[in-house]
Amino acid sequence: KRTMLIVRSFTILLLSCIAFKLACCFSSSISSLKALPLVGHLEFEDVHHASKDFGNRYQLIPLAVLHPKSVSDIASAIRHIWMMGPHSQLTVAARGRGHSLQGQAQTRHGVVIHMESLHPQKLQVYSMDAPAPYVDVSGGELWINILHETLKYGLAPKSWTDYLHLTVGGTLSNAGISGQAFRHGPQISNVHQLEIVTGKGEILNCSKRQNSDLFDGVLGGLGQFGIITRARIALEPAPTMVKWIRVLYLDFSAFAKDQEQLISAKGHKFDYIEGFVIINRTGLLNNWRLSFTPEEPLEASQFKSDGRTLYCLELAKYLKQDNKDVINQEVKETLSELSYVSSTLFSTEVTYEAFLDRVHVSEVKLRSKGQWEVPHPWLNLLVPRSTIREFAKGVFGNILTDTSNGPVIVYPVNKSKWDNQTSAVTPEEEVFYLVAILTSAVPGKEDGGVEQILKRNRRILEFSEEAGIGLKQYLPHYTTREEWRSHFGAKWGEFVRRKSRYDPLAILAPGQRIFEKAV
Ligand code: FAD
Repeated sequence: KRTMLIVRSFTILLLSCIAFKLACCFSSSISSLKALPLVGHLEFEDVHHASKDFGNRYQLIPLAVLHPKSVSDIASAIRHIWMMGPHSQLTVAARGRGHSLQGQAQTRHGVVIHMESLHPQKLQVYSMDAPAPYVDVSGGELWINILHETLKYGLAPKSWTDYLHLTVGGTLSNAGISGQAFRHGPQISNVHQLEIVTGKGEILNCSKRQNSDLFDGVLGGLGQFGIITRARIALEPAPTMVKWIRVLYLDFSAFAKDQEQLISAKGHKFDYIEGFVIINRTGLLNNWRLSFTPEEPLEASQFKSDGRTLYCLELAKYLKQDNKDVINQEVKETLSELSYVSSTLFSTEVTYEAFLDRVHVSEVKLRSKGQWEVPHPWLNLLVPRSTIREFAKGVFGNILTDTSNGPVIVYPVNKSKWDNQTSAVTPEEEVFYLVAILTSAVPGKEDGGVEQILKRNRRILEFSEEAGIGLKQYLPHYTTREEWRSHFGAKWGEFVRRKSRYDPLAILAPGQRIFEKAV
């Protein structure tokens, strides 16, 4: 009893010492940060908003949140932390919209940089020197704002994500993939130039011609080498309207064959190609009728989706006022070469803006039902073409039993549109598929618990490992150095070298859990 009492007292003493040391550390960090000359400001009290993300599963409370008004605010804060040396525990996480899934934009007891505070800097659209117009934007800018601004000039970026309320810095740190990627590559293939603040607090401009090692490293670099404060994005003439088409398949092979044929077709028959899996949904086509028109209304009304696994090919063709009839005829001809179930052709025409911002409509609906801010144990995978059919058989035909709690998106892209010099990791084959299993943990729904969804995700990964699918994770999340090494494969050496060059103290993006600050 006596020994236990001594051990307990000793433990309490030790913990108090650690707590005291940490408190001293924090208060000296706070006072040194408070002394920084900034145009913007640091927030120390109400910082909980920076400890959440879209995934809604991880929560790291920062010491402070920086609201920068200029790039020099960001550089001063990072330079200050860099100068404190390896003994300071402070790290820095740039936060875009916080749409990460597993705490990637968070830092425990560090400084979160609220990148949207940089956004009031004006967007600069340069259209005079067409045919290569571009826009200069802040790293904290939302893609939806870029769309609105560039449309005023009849222009728009070429490559998108499905959802536009994400920041430039956030998507460029990953890749930025959507249905235009087969044609233009991901968003990281459509950037001319970046302004970066490195982990030493230096402000550097970079492009393929200037500081190209940094430029390549930052694109798809998971925030490890620097903070993107500005980006020059390639633009193209924007269409006014979009013809948006959906057709259904009963067989994955036929669906994938048509997708692959379309992405490789000369002259690009469509501007956007995606697809999704539908498992065990009732009244599907009736729902579609709210926004799409069936080509054959009677036959479509007789098609039964209940209890089936279906594959929906989703296509879009951009329309301009003067070419509508010709395009409609071309679309008809191309569709006649595909092997979908003929009664399931649905189409509609919407403005370009409505088409690109389509996921926001679902966001508004889900928010109104309290179903947006729920946990999102999403799984995003890049699967080689050579194994996608086996993957589909095992996963869509067996492990996934229902898609009513979130979409399962599947579409192929061409690797030749990705720059292999960047940090982004993909399978090696020329064609690979994005498979995004976007299940929400909706309270009260059957099989809707986070643990069950995570267990199912693990089963998918285990199945893929055993079957030798050779996939790579997109928006990856790993906890050990070995897993990261295996994720990056041949790119790992370069990744580590760049880290030691641009952020040698491992100050930046600790929430990715790739490198740890040596204290
Ligand atoms: P955050 O989550 O805030 O940050 C992501 C990472 O980047 C963090 O590590 C952060 O520290 C770092 N970072 C943020 N800003 C900067 C910066 N300026 N400089 C350097 N590092 C920075 N992705 C696709 O590719 N295609 C899609 O179609 C797609 N659809 C999505 C739909 C929804 C509803 C959601 C929630 C996400 C979707 N995503 C998609 C994923 C999205 O690309 C990532 O969530 C990405 O992280 C962007 O989100 P964010 O701007 O909020 O960045």
